[in-house]
Amino acid sequence: MTDSTLSPEALREKYEQERLKRVRAEGNAQYVELKTYKDYDADPYTPLIPREPLDIETDAVIVGAGWGGMTTAAFLRKNGVNDFRIIDKAGDFGGTWYWNRYPGCMCDVESYCYLPLLEETGYMPTKKYAHASEIFAYAQQLGRKYDMYENAIFQTEVVDAVWNEDSQRWHLTTTRGDKIATRFFVICGGVLHKAKLPGIPGIRDFQGEAFHTSRWDYAVTGGGPEEPMTNLGDKIVGIIGTGATAVQAVPKLAEAAKHLYVFQRTPSAVSVRNQQETDPAWFAEMSKTPGWQQARIDNFTGMITGKKPEVDLVDDGWTEILGNDTKRPPRDEEDAKYLELLDYQQMQKIRDRITETVKDPATAEKLLPWYKVSCKRPCFHDDYLPAFNRDNVTLVDTDGHGVERITANSVIANGQEYPVDILIYASGFEVLTFYTHRLGFDPKGNGGVSMSEAWAKGPNTLFGIHTNGFPNMMMNSAIQGGQDVNFAYTLTQTGKQIAYTISEALSRGATTVEPKPTAESEWFDVIMGTLASYGAYFADCTPSYLNNEGGAPSDYDMKCGCSRGSALDWVKILEAWRERGDLTGLELTTKS
Ligand code: NDP
Repeated sequence: MTDSTLSPEALREKYEQERLKRVRAEGNAQYVELKTYKDYDADPYTPLIPREPLDIETDAVIVGAGWGGMTTAAFLRKNGVNDFRIIDKAGDFGGTWYWNRYPGCMCDVESYCYLPLLEETGYMPTKKYAHASEIFAYAQQLGRKYDMYENAIFQTEVVDAVWNEDSQRWHLTTTRGDKIATRFFVICGGVLHKAKLPGIPGIRDFQGEAFHTSRWDYAVTGGGPEEPMTNLGDKIVGIIGTGATAVQAVPKLAEAAKHLYVFQRTPSAVSVRNQQETDPAWFAEMSKTPGWQQARIDNFTGMITGKKPEVDLVDDGWTEILGNDTKRPPRDEEDAKYLELLDYQQMQKIRDRITETVKDPATAEKLLPWYKVSCKRPCFHDDYLPAFNRDNVTLVDTDGHGVERITANSVIANGQEYPVDILIYASGFEVLTFYTHRLGFDPKGNGGVSMSEAWAKGPNTLFGIHTNGFPNMMMNSAIQGGQDVNFAYTLTQTGKQIAYTISEALSRGATTVEPKPTAESEWFDVIMGTLASYGAYFADCTPSYLNNEGGAPSDYDMKCGCSRGSALDWVKILEAWRERGDLTGLELTTKS
């Protein structure tokens, strides 16, 4: 039984003890890139299609064919800009939904709010929380709807991007030997697109099958994203990591494997999911009203960001937890105490559910999360906790220390050896590492100055989109941009803004668009103004990618922050800017 009678002081102390177990001096350096070992980064889904190198010129190149890139492309089309290319390392559209095909993968945000441009496509999601394969198919549908396939350059990575002041073009080279000159260069490298592995000693030595969850090898497991994994009945499987990904994959692995070992460093906080099939009559009625999706997104966003509408349309775990957001800045000392208590109560409810669901008290005890609600992405699942009631599933809790070593055929944790046939890394993605490192290229702007040089002391941007010294380059990243648990929403809104700016620049005959330093510093103040509670809330959080793996965020991290206010306020700023129509803060030049 969890002790729900602990005082706030005792809980504060417990959280701190648990946090200290997990703080590691090496921070992000504990992780390594997928390509460091074997070929863990290879695409298991699409064989490489040979092609001749391209030598082309275009109006806009978008790098990244996830929601950010796709919605930018859709809005470019809507605005009449058709001469563009969209480049991606993957073999198709979808971004994160191209790569993440692990069993059980689904979106934890309601599909009616999450899937971009539903009103335009007329698509009805089959479930309240869409499965990954449905989302990937939807991305392909969106690609067809806006004729993006003809503009796509897949299985291709940008190697270099250089601004040429004479030609007023960006010149790109790629891994396929392409030479592409473009007026506008739009970078939509995803927020969570670069998978990482834990740098566990011996990881190189493992001789069995091993892969990261974002490169799921169905040739090894059998089955598919929607089919049972038929090759695991006689296999011992180990999964390292218990974050949002593992919470979804573990129940499916538990059903299929002879035995499953779940290696845990920090438990996730898992609340009720309550999945539902879409009722076609209900959906048809709702989608009759023009603007229905935006209204629903606004309702959801308002609910979870302190702007409560009268009715909670989505009414799920997110709106319950964040409907009483405990990380908002407290008004005074009394309010701070209130928020702390509320946070404890919310977490206690989650802990109580664990002790009620997991039959073995020792296992239940190890699954209890001892940190604040927003320290890690909250998880929602109805089958994760019951998986630990199965005889073929063993939780190997490492008391915050992590797996010690990997050998040719086993995982060593707590000094004990666990032989495994297959090892799966549910170890997440880089988030707060240097932007150009995650992108895999370092754009060179005016005077050949690279982004890593220009941003050595921190990024300067207008809207998180433009940066001085890099004319006609635009970014759709969370750095100094908007953020929301509904990632697709902020990516879509940024895509709309970028497409507007490009089409306006083209129609006004501008050859360059570049933010003024004064506009950047004004925007910096806007972003920093929303970060008031950020440092304070996350500083004593258990380590995760949200606080750069522990401790208070550095000055540099803070400068890379995204708007922590309501995404509704951030969108209003962008909308008002577009309505004014004077491209305030941008310098436009025209070179004949
Ligand atoms: P996470 O970074 O959340 O989890 C990585 C896991 O690996 C953690 O449990 C971590 O432990 C563990 N780990 C790392 N090193 C070791 C080690 N040496 N020994 C043992 N365990 C180790 O990655 P996920 O892929 O789970 O999720 C990343 C993000 O992806 C989510 O937060 C979410 O934003 C997104 N996502 C979204 C979904 C959606 O539905 N929208 C679904 C799935 C993912 P520790 O916690 O101690 O660091």
